[in-house]
Amino acid sequence: MGSHWESLITHPPFGHAIMPEAQAVTKMSSMEKYRFRRALEEIEKAQGRGTELVSVYVPPDRPVFEVTNYLRGEYSQSSNIKSASTKKHVMQAIESIINRLKEYRMPPPNGLVAFVGHKDVGADQTKMVAYVLQPPEPVQSFLYRCDSRFFTEPLHEMLAEKDVYGLVVIDQGEATLGILEGKRITPLKNVQSLVPRKHRMGGQSARRFERLHEQAVHEFFKKIGDLMTEAFLNRRELRGLILGGPGYTKDTFVKEGYLHHELNKKVLGTFDTGYTDESGLRELVANARDVLRDLDLMREKALVQRLMEEIRKEGGGLSAYGEDQVRRALELRAVDLLLLSEGIRKLRLQVRCSNGHEAVKTVADEATLPKCPECGAEYQVVERRDIVEEFSALADASNAKVELVSADSDEGELLLKAFGGIAAILRYRVA
Ligand code: ZN
Repeated sequence: MGSHWESLITHPPFGHAIMPEAQAVTKMSSMEKYRFRRALEEIEKAQGRGTELVSVYVPPDRPVFEVTNYLRGEYSQSSNIKSASTKKHVMQAIESIINRLKEYRMPPPNGLVAFVGHKDVGADQTKMVAYVLQPPEPVQSFLYRCDSRFFTEPLHEMLAEKDVYGLVVIDQGEATLGILEGKRITPLKNVQSLVPRKHRMGGQSARRFERLHEQAVHEFFKKIGDLMTEAFLNRRELRGLILGGPGYTKDTFVKEGYLHHELNKKVLGTFDTGYTDESGLRELVANARDVLRDLDLMREKALVQRLMEEIRKEGGGLSAYGEDQVRRALELRAVDLLLLSEGIRKLRLQVRCSNGHEAVKTVADEATLPKCPECGAEYQVVERRDIVEEFSALADASNAKVELVSADSDEGELLLKAFGGIAAILRYRVA
């Protein structure tokens, strides 16, 4: 059990040049997130019969011996627990965590989270479960909790959407660059321009001033364009750029090609703000909020709409849907884009009966496994896999792209309800 969950999350920190003091940004892939969410679902289902489920959060900088000492203290405290079974269960849980911690001197880079305890499995029975996770973000503070449920709140916070956007507020006098991650705005750089203020002047000097002014604006825009390239171009997790500022400057800046062409493609929009300093960044995010919120859903909607367009074509166009059809298309390497609903809750099971007959089954619930059709014996599960995991592995093996689609939009719901959550756009038609 343990090893499956322990291997949940691995991803390298993402370095960037311009702001060494800013925290390294990490982003889980949608598949990693999916796995993590599923793990949490599993953990949250557990319920203790008493306050006997132990959750421990260990920050990365906490020496393990300190944690072990703390747990030993809790262990001796728990000898005071009145209920004999709760006492026994709590002590076993703490002991198990101490044993698991023996592998470490220091915690892994993001720290460690352990959930251990006896969960109620009905019929007056309990079962000991132990999950050790390496979280996707650093554990902030040490926490020990013993309750009838595992304490997972901090992990949910880590999972919350943290899309990354580049921010720029600009006018002719000043520009500020920043990064938006989830709800956090980090200013990166503030630049004042050398563009001279306009004065009333007549004749020759007015024209000369105009030229100087234009030249200075050009230099300033060029400089901001370069800074943006440096700050944003190599951030692969960047979902887009939003620009703000008073008046038309921001639009002129975008239209006249001061942005690297790759960044130009990422511009999501420009928004009016009154300021071009740090407070301008906050204004910008507030004004762009609706656009940002819709982006994720829009992407999902577009994917499902593309599928529907194919389905409407004669003979189903380049579409495949439903588990069997899509599985076959994947095996033929005919899938270009695999669409999987995050709402599927199915398992792919390898089963074997006591007489050695083997089969592979997809079920929503293991309890509904049929009997072996050849001999009538019960099946035993040899291997189980989440079906989303299984399909995504099939897609990887055949070089198909995978998109996980939430059930939050009408289109996402359609994918789940009408097609069992599995559909594909094909490279070529399969008979
Ligand atoms: Zn059999």
